[in-house]
This record gives sequence, C-alpha cells and structure tokens, in this order.
Amino acid sequence: MADDLVVVGGGITGQAAALAAAEAGARVTLIDWGRNAGSAANAGSLHVQMQSRFLRLNPHLAENVERSLPLYRAAVAEWARLDAALGGVEMSREGGLMLAETPAQMAFLETKAARERAQGLDVDLLDRGALDRIAPYLGPGLVGAELCRDEGKINPLVANARMTTRLEALRVRRVRDRIVSVTAEQAEGTDRYPARAVLVAAAWGSGALLPMLAMPTPPEPLHMNITEAGDYRIRHLVQHAERSITLKQFRSGQVVIGGGWPAEGGADGTPAVLSRSMAANVALAGRIAPGIAGLRVIRTWAGLNTPVDGKATIGPVAPGAALHVALPGDAGYTLGPIVGRAAAAVALGLEPPVDPAPYSPERWRQ
Ligand SMILES: Cc1cc2nc3c(=O)[nH]c(=O)nc-3n(C[C@H](O)[C@H](O)[C@H](O)COP(=O)(O)OP(=O)(O)OC[C@H]3O[C@@H](n4cnc5c(N)ncnc54)[C@H](O)[C@@H]3O)c2cc1C
Repeated sequence: MADDLVVVGGGITGQAAALAAAEAGARVTLIDWGRNAGSAANAGSLHVQMQSRFLRLNPHLAENVERSLPLYRAAVAEWARLDAALGGVEMSREGGLMLAETPAQMAFLETKAARERAQGLDVDLLDRGALDRIAPYLGPGLVGAELCRDEGKINPLVANARMTTRLEALRVRRVRDRIVSVTAEQAEGTDRYPARAVLVAAAWGSGALLPMLAMPTPPEPLHMNITEAGDYRIRHLVQHAERSITLKQFRSGQVVIGGGWPAEGGADGTPAVLSRSMAANVALAGRIAPGIAGLRVIRTWAGLNTPVDGKATIGPVAPGAALHVALPGDAGYTLGPIVGRAAAAVALGLEPPVDPAPYSPERWRQ
C-alpha cells in the first residue's frame, strides 16, 4: 500500500516534515541512509541575524540571506512551538551578540543592522559600556557589538531525542536505506517505497537525487568543540563580525565552540577534524570569553553542513508535481523545522505555515 508521503532524509528537516504530515493524519515513511547528518553534528545556535562568515565567503549570495530574514524569525517561533510540543529542548531566547574589535567592524555591523531592521529584525548596536552591562563575561579588546534579540539556542541532543520519541509515538515508519532514485510515485533504494507524494530532504544527498534541478548540494565539512561544565554565565549566542566563531553555553554549563572552522572530507566518508582548526577555534573562544579558558575541551568533532545558495528550497520540482524538495539552506538546524513543516504541508495540499513562493525550486529548473 502506498504511503501518503515518503520522506527521504532523516535529519531535522525530514523529521519535521514527517512529524507535520503524521500529525495531519498522513501515513508516512521516513527513509535515511544514516550517514553524516548535519543535524547530528550541529551546535544548536538559533541564528537570525546575517552571519558575517556567510557574507564574507559568499558576498554574491548576501541578498538570498537578507531576503530570507523573515523566514529565520518564523523558524525561531517554530522552535518555540516545538519546545512546548516536544516537552522541552532547552530553548532560550536571550539574544545573539555579534562582536566588533575595531571601528571598521563596528561600521560593518551598523550597515548590517540597518538592512536587518528593514526586514523586521529586533537589532541594536551596543557600545562597550552597554555590552559590559549585559555580557560581563566578554574579554578586553572589544569596542562594541550588534545585539539581535530574536536569536537564541537549544540543545540539539535533547531536541533530536525528543523528536525521535514523538515520531515513534505517531507511528511514523523509519527505514535505514540509501535511496538511489526518486520519482513522484516512489523512492527506490534496496527496496521500493511507493507513495502519493515524495519529499527529498536529504541535504548534501539531494542534488544527485534530483537531476531535473540544476541544484548543487556540496557538503561543507565543519569543526566543533564542547568543554566540560563551568558556571552558567554566557546566556547569549556569541559571534564575531569578522572571525569565524559561535560560542554558547548549554544549561549544563558546557560551552559549545564552533562557527565554521573547516574540517576535512566529504559525504563519501566520515569528515575528519583538523588539529589547526581546533587550536585556532578554542584560542579565539578563550580570547573572547576569558572565563572559559580554564575549561577542558572534552570532545571535538566534524560534521557536514549543506548551505546550498544560502536560501531555503521548498516545494514541488515542477508546478503540480508530486515530487517535492525541502532544503533549509544556511543555518539549517534553525530553519529545518519550519522548512520541513512547510514542505510537508505543500506536498499534502495543506495550508503551509509560511508562504513558500520565495523558496520555490523554480530557480533551479533546467
Ligand atoms: C558542525 C556543524 C555545526 C552546525 N551548527 C549549526 C547551528 O548551530 N545552527 C544551525 O542552524 N545550523 C547549524 N549547522 C547546520 C545544520 O546542522 C544543517 O544545516 C541541518 O542540520 C540540515 O538538516 P537537514 O535535515 O536538512 O539535513 P541533515 O541533517 O544533513 O540530514 C540529511 C540526511 O539525509 C540522509 N541522506 C543523504 N542522502 C541520502 C540518500 N540518498 N538516501 C537516504 N538518505 C540520504 C543523510 O544520511 C542524512 O541523515 C551546523 C552544521 C555543522 C556541520
């Protein structure tokens, strides 16, 4: 018997799609290869403001991120909804800081904040005095920061576990398989999975499954670290205007340090940690927040990100087709739940939680 929806890719986006579909009463199968999910490697930062790293590496894609800012706000609201619905994912929304060490970096933040405010974000520029009042844990050498009050953090280990429990409760069928081809009627791997609609949410694996779209989905191997627990003092999500870093603290007191330092390898293996990334990443973190310098790093790892063109892709591969796509784009763990739910709604003919039109796969059609 055909499922109402077969979802290929069991990261946060595919899981959110399966959850939304099952909650709407659909019969759902969720298929995952079990390899290199960014959702199992990520840091749990809920990003809203434009990330300086992405703008630096992809200046030609800045407009894609800028136009997506309302989706990021909706994504954080979606996480708040899930936080309640799943029984708590350690979410907090105390804002995100992007730090400046020079007047030139501050000027960059001023321009960025003006663009973000125009898209409805709640942002402010803080001088050093104002920064000290809300973030006394920061080190010397900073001249100010941009504060984005829409930002926050969750614990992805908790969120992933809660999501799994909820999918099990809803009797979503989960299958481990590598899908090699998809059509509007089925996904095929070692077995065949017939469906009324098929949704590809396979991140770096998506491009190869959808040859009708000129949609490159190369993986970006990234580095992460986590420390032992210290006193819980860093309440913000912390980034830098020019250097690659994200820094945050879980409620356990453990500090998660990442922000886009490179790792090695791709989807055909397990990405490997580069020692130079680890050394530079934690050194920068210790400079920004000197209070953490005494904490030991207890785990370091690498994972695959799939930023695509910095913009989500949601919807059918062609108008009216029953083969659909759900790719979150940059900061994909933040966006995954809203993108997955929207894509599932479109695939099932239900009202999506956001207007998917700006994120149509149309831009990839050959
Ligand atoms: C180190 C690191 C830190 C990050 N930190 C953050 C952060 O703090 N905040 C944030 O917002 N984002 C972060 N990201 C990005 C984020 O993790 C990803 O964008 C997001 O998890 C993507 O979710 P997804 O469900 O779309 O894809 P993934 O979680 O990547 O899942 C894709 C799944 O598809 C499966 N798959 C692929 N091909 C096939 C196939 N042919 N058949 C069957 N299954 C297949 C894979 O096995 C995988 O399980 C980070 C990424 C990394 C690597």
